[in-house]
Amino acid sequence: MSLKVYNTLTKRKEEFKPIREGEVRMYVCGPTVYDYPHLGHARTYIAFDVIRRYLEHKGYTVLMVMNFTDIDDKIIRRARETGEDPKELAEKFIKVFLEDMNALKVKPADIYPRVTEHIGDIIDFIKKLEEKGYAYEGKDGVYFEVQKFKEYGKLSGIKIEELRKGARVEPGEGKKNPEDFALWKKAKPGEPKWDSPWGEGRPGWHIECSVMSSKYLGESFDIHGGGNDLIFPHHENEIAQSEACFGHEWVRYWLHTGFVMVKGEKMSKSLGNFVTVRELLQRYSPEVIRFFVLQKHYRSPLDYSEEGLQHAKNNLERLYNTLENIRIAMERAELAYTWDEDDYEVYEAIKNARKKFYEAMDDDFNTAEALKAVFEVSNAINKYLTEKERPKEAILRKALEFFKVVSEIFGIFEDYFKEEKREIEEELIKVLVDVRSQLRKEKRFDLADKIREELRRLGIQLEDRGQETVWKRIKV
Ligand code: AMP
Ligand code: ZN
Repeated sequence: MSLKVYNTLTKRKEEFKPIREGEVRMYVCGPTVYDYPHLGHARTYIAFDVIRRYLEHKGYTVLMVMNFTDIDDKIIRRARETGEDPKELAEKFIKVFLEDMNALKVKPADIYPRVTEHIGDIIDFIKKLEEKGYAYEGKDGVYFEVQKFKEYGKLSGIKIEELRKGARVEPGEGKKNPEDFALWKKAKPGEPKWDSPWGEGRPGWHIECSVMSSKYLGESFDIHGGGNDLIFPHHENEIAQSEACFGHEWVRYWLHTGFVMVKGEKMSKSLGNFVTVRELLQRYSPEVIRFFVLQKHYRSPLDYSEEGLQHAKNNLERLYNTLENIRIAMERAELAYTWDEDDYEVYEAIKNARKKFYEAMDDDFNTAEALKAVFEVSNAINKYLTEKERPKEAILRKALEFFKVVSEIFGIFEDYFKEEKREIEEELIKVLVDVRSQLRKEKRFDLADKIREELRRLGIQLEDRGQETVWKRIKV
């Protein structure tokens, strides 16, 4: 099965072939760290997490780099407002970002470079651009001369003439043309600054990603990603800088995520229509948030609503319920047997759904379609379990193996498949269930009920089926 990915650069789906066999090098633009991450950020980073997990599942070694923009106008402005030191402010929100991503089960990047730790590399890169005639010094900074890079616009489709129409060089700006962008900004009073051949100052925004990606991934690599809003100008400018400097094609596949939307508008800090990851985590489990995100293809817009999240929660609960049904059925499953028609029917259903799942994921990581296949397995198994007195262990195992694949790629059902923790937890629940049965026999119902209520509070539901009591996890 071959993987196809939609490349923003060519505007079509292409077969995915990494530059080096067996290895995928990817760079995802990280956050500007001055505030708490919101659901829009979570969507983008969960999407790239699943892309990365799927590539790993397919057998690739993935090397993933994500930057932290830890110096920038927004950080300086926020630090002024709160009276903090910009460096401390950035440090604080790097920590917050890492904590939030960890809570959302987003696997950490392998390398997290920060702008302020790469000023020397950035200066060297700008010097090269100057030597090659792409950069010039103006009175307030060093600029990239866009018209010198002949392929400018190849990612976003933007034309230099269009850029000139709406813009002009403001008084006080030292650039030659309105479309030129800053590589280095000369220091204004009171701003953080570093020494450079052009006097004290700090880097522009775009240069950091050209510099830090090539430092850790080499002068050409496979995947570069970010949200849609980064296509222009950020990624367009990154391409111009990198290809001007290296003299060859830089990135193979450009991947971009759609926005999280609120009432038709992009969720963003500036519009104030955002919900932070922390707020959401108080109401929904990390897996529900992931599930909510994965119900849509990563390039489509995703509407934020409480009903949407509640819907995701219900759907995830249905799947957990199936997993619990399988676990309970395992205890009455037959081990030595031959298969009959019903068994073959479920086997076929699992086999076909598994194929569909991989086809969907191979089709530009279509998690929305892939989830449909997961529900097909869930429905087939539930039907089988209601109808079959003695289910076959092999069939249940086939279903569990499939759910385990889904778990690894989507980062859901993780607790279910965590063996060590489950064993002790299950033993403890069994002890309580036995004690409760004994209490019921002795007609000490108040204590028996207390055990049931306390377990329910912890997300464990007891069901009395005649003489027997079974338990289920009900919280997701
Ligand atoms: P920022 O910290 O604003 O630079 O954003 C970090 C990443 O989150 C970028 O890749 C953005 O494109 C992405 N992002 C920001 N807002 C949203 C949103 N509403 N939906 C999806 N991605 C977003
Ligand atoms: Zn970037």
